[in-house]
Amino acid sequence: MVSKKVSSERKYECHKCWVEMNKEEVETFGPNIIIDVCPKCNGIWLDKGELEKLLKDRKLSNYLTKHIGVKSSSPMICPQCGNLMDIEKADEIEVDVCLTCGGVWLDSGELEELKTKSEEGFEGDKLAKMEELEEERLYKARNSSLNKFLRKLTK
Ligand SMILES: [Zn+2]
Ligand SMILES: [Zn+2]
Repeated sequence: MVSKKVSSERKYECHKCWVEMNKEEVETFGPNIIIDVCPKCNGIWLDKGELEKLLKDRKLSNYLTKHIGVKSSSPMICPQCGNLMDIEKADEIEVDVCLTCGGVWLDSGELEELKTKSEEGFEGDKLAKMEELEEERLYKARNSSLNKFLRKLTK
């Protein structure tokens, strides 16, 4: 991974080490992207869409970051928006994904592991994905009936 340090706007703090993360510019085939790297534990924070650009694998990155359900199983709080995160798995690799903004936390070495998975043609666990899709659908349905009810009340 070719990267160089850049200094720009907003800095995130590593949720494990409580130190400011460094911005690093990474060369991709498209425009370069800026990711946040913890100088202590080498964890990486990726904003929405950045995982796909790094892996160049839409299937795997969609699998990890799209339709991730509504239940939070991660103790981590999103450094970007402060909302709950969930743990998503690609076999034994566990990444934390924000349920709200879609940002991704990768522990040290996980990016390389995901890259290997991608090269091996990982397809994802379809059953687990189905469960999350269903969960998300139910949540939305519940929400929309609650909204209807609330609208009725305010009339
Ligand atoms: Zn750290
Ligand atoms: Zn977030």
